[in-house]
Amino acid sequence: MKVACGLLNAVALGLALIALPQQGVAADVPAGDEAAQLRGIINNIMDDNAAFVKSHKPDYYRPFADDQHPRATVVTCADSRVHMHALDKTPDGDLFVVRNIGNQIGTAEGSVEYGVRQLHTPLLIIIGHVACDAIKLARGNYSKESAPIKRELDTIKLPARNSKADEDEEWLRGVDANVNNQVALALKKFSAEIGDGKLTVIGAVYDFRNVMHQGQGRLNIININGSTDSGSIMSGLMKMTGAGMKLDKKQAEKKPLEH
Ligand SMILES: [Zn+2]
Repeated sequence: MKVACGLLNAVALGLALIALPQQGVAADVPAGDEAAQLRGIINNIMDDNAAFVKSHKPDYYRPFADDQHPRATVVTCADSRVHMHALDKTPDGDLFVVRNIGNQIGTAEGSVEYGVRQLHTPLLIIIGHVACDAIKLARGNYSKESAPIKRELDTIKLPARNSKADEDEEWLRGVDANVNNQVALALKKFSAEIGDGKLTVIGAVYDFRNVMHQGQGRLNIININGSTDSGSIMSGLMKMTGAGMKLDKKQAEKKPLEH
């Protein structure tokens, strides 16, 4: 398990202040016993971090210990099923990640801007995902949600519902539309950087259910600098990755995605 450093710091601090229960208690404690459950979770975090510390020597941190030069700014959903190891084996120092519900630029504009304009990442990638609860909520009546949650859902703009269409297809259509909207916002906000050839914006959908039929766990690119047709995406990827592009042949031969 990997957790954000802020959380670990908080956990470490918390453990320094309270008497630490014995380590190594499994997280699968009986339901309903919240204290035991929490103890299990925290112990798992501490155990995983201890293993991480043990297996990562000082050399590992050397490239990014003093400063950061990430290769991409990533805007993705806070969903627990979406993590960076799906697209980067060693994301430490590589990815400047901004997360919120619905992978939005509008609700985290300063953070996104920091990645692009202060850290000068040449790539901004916006990653939505299948089965996104934020999109599901935004598609329905969310008036009973709290004000802060409502505020973050209000900025998700979705196409009108087609009541005759399959519900799961409509959900995915909403995910795609939101990613494309976020790319459009980025193109507008960072038009100067894009015009100067310093920034490329990619929109993608991470599919951990294989509902897009491109392979379970696939990061499906659906938008490059505003182009959404599969031909432009393929040629754009070819151009960017050159002869050594990593897309497998089977994926390239698939029929265009249906959105
Ligand atoms: Zn989500």
